[in-house]
Amino acid sequence: MNVGILALQGAFAEHETMLHNLGVTTTQVRLPAQLEQIDRLIIPGGESTAIGKLLETYQLLEPLKARAQAGMPVWGTCAGMILLAREITEGRREGQPALGLMDITARRNAFGRQLDSFEQALSVPMLGEEPFPAVFIRAPQIDRVGPDVEILAELEDGRIVAARQGHFLATAFHPELTRDDRFHRLFLEL
Ligand code: GLN
Repeated sequence: MNVGILALQGAFAEHETMLHNLGVTTTQVRLPAQLEQIDRLIIPGGESTAIGKLLETYQLLEPLKARAQAGMPVWGTCAGMILLAREITEGRREGQPALGLMDITARRNAFGRQLDSFEQALSVPMLGEEPFPAVFIRAPQIDRVGPDVEILAELEDGRIVAARQGHFLATAFHPELTRDDRFHRLFLEL
């Protein structure tokens, strides 16, 4: 198995380290031809507007969409989750390119300025009893999920922060910044 990590902008190196520690080979994806070498793809956190524009500039947007629609598993963390969402409630710039692969609505920067970043012990029943140390950095939340989307985690106030739809996985937080590799292992099993 070879896992692609979209490496246009953002926290891609941390995902790579996590996967290497799991003994998985990876490819940093910057060119359309590299999509041929990978079995699945992680879209990292960063700035969704920047990553979206670069996806277009590097002519990755359409081929990536096609691979994903043909069944390639894709996991978006934070900004990556925003790019996976079919709708973006707030802060969507006019003409902002996005993949729109998952039937969810994402709200950018949902936690406001005063809560720029925080860590939260998050209950994720699918990963077992032990709470997940979720690191949120100017994080989005999920405002709506479609009928085929499974909610994997909610904060105590009911905000949805992780979801899965078939071979697509979305987390509003950054598992690659922790020592807990359970989300990475879950993604490898999709
Ligand atoms: N706030 C960023 C965005 O809207 C996401 C932040 C992140 O990925 N840590 O794209």
